[in-house]
Amino acid sequence: MTVTLPPENLKEVESVGATSGDRFGEVFKHAVAARGFMPDEEGQALFLHARQSGVDGPDGPWLEVGSYCGKSACYLGAAAEDAGRQLFALDHHRGSEENQAGWEYHEPDLLDPAIGWIDTLPEFRRTIHAAGLEGTVVALVGDSLSVAAVWRTPLSLLFIDGGHGSEPAHGDYEGWVPQLAIGGLLLIHDVFPDPVDGGRPPFEIWSRAVNSGVFTEIDAVGSLRVLRRTHVGI
Ligand code: SAH
Ligand code: MG
Repeated sequence: MTVTLPPENLKEVESVGATSGDRFGEVFKHAVAARGFMPDEEGQALFLHARQSGVDGPDGPWLEVGSYCGKSACYLGAAAEDAGRQLFALDHHRGSEENQAGWEYHEPDLLDPAIGWIDTLPEFRRTIHAAGLEGTVVALVGDSLSVAAVWRTPLSLLFIDGGHGSEPAHGDYEGWVPQLAIGGLLLIHDVFPDPVDGGRPPFEIWSRAVNSGVFTEIDAVGSLRVLRRTHVGI
């Protein structure tokens, strides 16, 4: 499949980028082909905001919570590579509840038969390798809150797309959002204002950010929400 950004966006990307549009196009092919839960249009928005943040955002690494098979990490990784940033891609790779056997988003071939749980790490590594992003995307394999508890480096960009239950989503918010530097971008996925469209917790944490008074809303594309930190706090 051929992937193209809307022409006006691509022009902007080429004019500010150190990387040619060909390299972005190459990575997007892998992003689109990768297994996962990121519609093309939202992935492109993820890329464009990250790309801009790489130019005018604060110093520091980027981090995504919830990588699955590496789809969103390709979009963010393309921008990180160009900006000379590192993207930490955090996931225990055992899947969320809805990815387990018998649930809605289960993909049987990802099951590790030896243990009866899914394991997305091999597929994640294949995706990142194929996209040529191994020098940019660093896998953090473990539980989100365990890593957040010892993390000390201020983040320039934070993408939250991990567990969507109430406890994991609010835990990610409380564990990771304090680590985002002023001027940094907070991106939250699967925000559905209408409960008919999807679960509440991502919407709830987005609402927390909006009502906190320490973020400005930047954009909304599909279920992706983009905010910028203006003050300390959560
Ligand atoms: N961003 C991905 C989709 C992520 S799906 C894409 O673009 O396709 C959500 C992921 O969150 C799953 O892979 C699951 O393993 C991970 N996850 C859920 N709870 C977690 C936790 N507590 N710690 C680490 N990862 C978690
Ligand atoms: Mg998602």
